[in-house]
Amino acid sequence: MSVPEHLQQHLEAGRALCAGGGYRGRFAPSPTGVLHLGNLQTALLSWLAARQAGGAWLLRIDDLDTPRNRAGAIESIQRDLNWLGLSWDGPPVLQSERRGIYHSWLSWLRRSGRLFACRCSRRELSDQPIYPGICRQAEHAWGWQQQRLPSWRLRVADDDPHGSGDVVLRRADGFIAYQLATVIDELSFGITDVVRGADLREALPAQRSLFDALGQHPPLFRHGSLLRDAQGQKLSKRVASSGLASLRAAGMDAAMVVGRLASGLQLVDPDARLSATELLEDLTHQQINAVIS
Ligand code: GLU
Repeated sequence: MSVPEHLQQHLEAGRALCAGGGYRGRFAPSPTGVLHLGNLQTALLSWLAARQAGGAWLLRIDDLDTPRNRAGAIESIQRDLNWLGLSWDGPPVLQSERRGIYHSWLSWLRRSGRLFACRCSRRELSDQPIYPGICRQAEHAWGWQQQRLPSWRLRVADDDPHGSGDVVLRRADGFIAYQLATVIDELSFGITDVVRGADLREALPAQRSLFDALGQHPPLFRHGSLLRDAQGQKLSKRVASSGLASLRAAGMDAAMVVGRLASGLQLVDPDARLSATELLEDLTHQQINAVIS
């Protein structure tokens, strides 16, 4: 089944944005709290890579998972990026304002027989590294059963080179899955290059399978290393105290924080003190790219 006209136009609009061949990057935080230093380090790296390439850098707010959103987080994300001098292009993109386009793609995928309804519980799947296809052959019962809705999975070819298994595109709670929204948005905004935290490397196979299912080229996906806390654990946004507020309270200005984030990325010496723009001017393409893989 071919892609309907309005979705074709959607793809073409995205392609037109990157037609000139320029770099288009993005930073896509979830507004679940204040940005912690690890998020800010990722933001800095993503910004440096985009600006060094003379490219655009967009701010996208991944706010579809509404129960996890925190009041004021969207504003604090923008305030923190501005304070650090990490300017983005255009208005921030709110995924919550784009549900229509995600649903259009989802309906088309469903109508063209690419999806199936899955009623496996998280517990049933907990020891399976990839989804083993349990519900693939089940009757397409999309409605309520035993007071529960199914999740909607993309049927991924058995010879899928990415090893993603069948990807959930709509969750059993009715929410659009992150994988679908992010892939549609990379296409909508003509994103050519994604630089994000290494924790998202595990999301890549599913995203690649979805780009394949839509017959579209993915951007170049790369990842920076994650900042760990003293115990070697990945930092969580819930650890609000490790955000900018605590550094500011300790008397650090933006140049000191930029220096600290950049030294965490091994880009400058630990006591460096400089603005984001000065950092950008000091670094070469090779230096920035050496810390992204
Ligand atoms: N919103 C996701 C997160 O904060 C990031 C999405 C992405 O960069 O692909 O973990």
